[in-house]
Amino acid sequence: MKIKQLNDDCYCFESSVNIGYVHKGEHGMIIDAGIDQSSIRKVVRQLESKQLPITHLFITHAHADHYGGAFYLKKHYNIKVIAPKLEAAIVENPIIEPIYMFQGNAPLDELRNKFLEGPPVQVDQVVDEGTIEIDRFHLELILTPGHSYHQLAVATEGILYAADSYFGEEELDKHKIPFIISAKDTIASLKKLVETNYDGAIPGHGRFETNYHETLQTNIKYHQKILDNLEKELKNHPEGCSHEEIVAKLCEMYEIKADQLSMFLLFRTAVTSYITALIEEGKIKHEVKNYRIVFYPS
Ligand SMILES: [Zn+2]
Repeated sequence: MKIKQLNDDCYCFESSVNIGYVHKGEHGMIIDAGIDQSSIRKVVRQLESKQLPITHLFITHAHADHYGGAFYLKKHYNIKVIAPKLEAAIVENPIIEPIYMFQGNAPLDELRNKFLEGPPVQVDQVVDEGTIEIDRFHLELILTPGHSYHQLAVATEGILYAADSYFGEEELDKHKIPFIISAKDTIASLKKLVETNYDGAIPGHGRFETNYHETLQTNIKYHQKILDNLEKELKNHPEGCSHEEIVAKLCEMYEIKADQLSMFLLFRTAVTSYITALIEEGKIKHEVKNYRIVFYPS
């Protein structure tokens, strides 16, 4: 994870979870904090060796791989923590993610792991979409829901820190079914970013690119392909498929490896996001039958 300078003010640290950094005089804003203390310490060490200040942390969304290192920063540096509304509530009460992943039930202990739940962090400033001045930073906050409920991408000084609104091509191939909570919102957010024109962009998982529009288009096609595959699969089953069956069929089709409960629940949520998009488009119907949610082609 080596520091990479993108222009006069903007930097990034490319890793399995990317971290951004913006420098403005005596102020320095870290964008996302990595999954834990050890990942953010690698960033901090390099910033300090270049005598770059650490005064602010912007958390784009409340997934533990993006805020797990925030606790360490808050404890050791006098930083202002900024997060989008709703996401801020989860960062401050991180058990909410294991609760929602477990459909609202009190989560089993094994779900309270560092991938689903980071240490809680007090948020100092809750923000929403729009242009905002915070100390010396001029930020354009772009609402990009779909991967999480109220994710904000951050554009500043010509660079788009896109959070998890899109994935690098390699990451799409690796995850096979990317984690999303709404396919409709995910695709709408991607189309919104296609209309932007920054000098370059970096997603949470993937590489910095100047021609990021191509990767956005690849992401749109990727989600649409999953929707098509799901619709086709249901057409082969006019008698209907239970929720459990259709999740299993799609995971089999994409050769997903998910033998741990927390991993499986992430895929169940992702597959359900495509199901709900097809319901909203009127392409599939659902009913409760014999105590199961059953989906049918329309
Ligand atoms: Zn995420």
